Amino acid sequence: MDKPPPPRPAVIVHGGAWAIPDDEWKAHREGVARACAAAWGVLAANGAALDAVEAAVTLLEEDPTFDAGVGSVLTRDGVVEMDAAVMDGRDRGVGAVACVRTIRSPFRAARSLLHAEHVMLMGEGAERWAREQGLATCDNADFVVERERRRFEAMRAGAVPADPRAAFDRRPSGPPPTRGPRGTVGCVAIDRGGNIAAGGSTGGTPGKRSGRVGDTPIPGAGLWADNREGGAACTGWGEGILRMGLARTAVSHLRDASAQDAAWLSIREMDARVSGLAGVIILSRDGSIGFGFNTPRMAVSYMDGELADPWVIGNDR
Ligand code: ASP
Repeated sequence: MDKPPPPRPAVIVHGGAWAIPDDEWKAHREGVARACAAAWGVLAANGAALDAVEAAVTLLEEDPTFDAGVGSVLTRDGVVEMDAAVMDGRDRGVGAVACVRTIRSPFRAARSLLHAEHVMLMGEGAERWAREQGLATCDNADFVVERERRRFEAMRAGAVPADPRAAFDRRPSGPPPTRGPRGTVGCVAIDRGGNIAAGGSTGGTPGKRSGRVGDTPIPGAGLWADNREGGAACTGWGEGILRMGLARTAVSHLRDASAQDAAWLSIREMDARVSGLAGVIILSRDGSIGFGFNTPRMAVSYMDGELADPWVIGNDR
């Protein structure tokens, strides 16, 4: 029997799916392309998929354009509360944190839990764990950018609709602080060894209740990775993604569909079943790439050995 071709390294990165306004589109596209290039740098040097995902996600956590780390949206109480996760396709290992406020890189904290005693830690317990691991911490205020402070004030003044789902659909309008939501960040990578990893980091939805956990840290919903099938990462209205198990749904379509078809099939299914609003990025185990979304826009970049530079989504769908 012919030996199967060796896996082709590839990476795909997202920076959120929502009504990204024209004047923020460039920053989103450039941000995801930079993160994609960083992840590709790891893969091209024979690095591991997990390290590639970490390179992309941690870079975006420090980019104030996105709703992850610095630049995260604020809760109803006016603080930043973040969720993050990583999944290792070799053994379906998962590390996740939820509702953390002072861990500088929630993604690194999530990764430190990969193959540890517990899959997920939240709140104070997660913060204590991160300190024990020697991970960097900072003040909650260090994550807050002026844009989000103004949005919070506008929300308090009643200028922003309370329904977070509507925010993912709404066409950009009004002055910047009332626009929303923001872009969670995520990445899926496959390395030369055929290992697949997926990960993401988020400040969640603007005006969420403190203690709310979205899809991002939940395996099967916000992310999925299994070397035997493929990997996916999601973004958008978390409550719909959670009810749909969107990442797992998308990957399960790889059994009889291409990566691109699997992405769109899962989005269509979510639309029909739970009226969700979201985007998904996906990689199959042979390194084929796909993405789909039913929000007005989604920031996406991908790279593989056939491209000279990371591909970035254009100005139109
Ligand atoms: N899915 C994230 C959440 O609901 C938000 C986003 O992707 O923008 O927490």
